[in-house]
Amino acid sequence: MSGPVAPVDVADGDSSEAGGVELLTARETVVGEMRVRRALPRRGHRTVGAWCFADHMGPASVTEDRGVDIGPHPHIGLQTVTWLAAGEVLHRDSLGSEQVIKPGQLNLMTAGRGVSHSEEATGRYAGELHGIQLWVAQPQSTRWGEPAFEHWPSLPAASVGGVEATVLVGSFAGVASPARRDTDHFGAELVVRGPGEAPIEAGHEHAVVVLEGSVTVDGATVEPGRLGYLAPGRSSLAFGGSGRLLLLGGEPFESEIFMWWNFVARSTDEVDEAWADWESAESTRFGSVASPLARIPAPAERMWKRR
Ligand code: MN
Repeated sequence: MSGPVAPVDVADGDSSEAGGVELLTARETVVGEMRVRRALPRRGHRTVGAWCFADHMGPASVTEDRGVDIGPHPHIGLQTVTWLAAGEVLHRDSLGSEQVIKPGQLNLMTAGRGVSHSEEATGRYAGELHGIQLWVAQPQSTRWGEPAFEHWPSLPAASVGGVEATVLVGSFAGVASPARRDTDHFGAELVVRGPGEAPIEAGHEHAVVVLEGSVTVDGATVEPGRLGYLAPGRSSLAFGGSGRLLLLGGEPFESEIFMWWNFVARSTDEVDEAWADWESAESTRFGSVASPLARIPAPAERMWKRR
């Protein structure tokens, strides 16, 4: 749920094309003890709008005490967007937030110059856990700002052209989410049951990540484990099949990003500094998290650069 606990390597993987939709195979990886399918970043598509990371987690079976066990770890320069299809997860962060998230709710954490958080079992929920964690790259204008956390217990719904949508961030089909956003991007969960059509911004690029079922997007079949990429220039999307998906879109991001481990930056120097600050006993940059789980050390591969 929490993003990589190993360095991000941008996968090549298989890709194909159908109806102008690029289909990219997600990379299987493990976060904590959960198997995840990492749809972003991908070579050639490190960002889709400001979206720069997508981990589809589960469905998996969890107990009250085990499941998502991601100890405190740092972030810079990004927002984490957590969305569940089933189950419950407890979020704790260095701002003092302690928040259980359930399906239909949004956790949105803004890292800015630095934050740390954990994601944990709730101590009471057992059953299926299924969800996605997304990252949004922060623009130059806010990426050195203060960290923040928002929880939205419910979000606006839209019904358009036979498609039922919940708007997580930004606007979709004329319905706007109240959640913070720093760039022109949006994310919505869509439930597709048969043919439908929805308007989109022609200036946006889009990605489709299917959580369950099998959905066609402009004729291309997208299923769990694949990401559908659509370049700018479309003003609507035709849906078919049946399933639940995340539709992510936005204006192409303002710059190249440099992503390593849990950091979204612009240069190796920025990452080296964040690495050193997380490893330093003196630095207060990332605060501390009141978590029973062990703090996750940064991968040692940058140690030779430690200053
Ligand atoms: Mn995280």
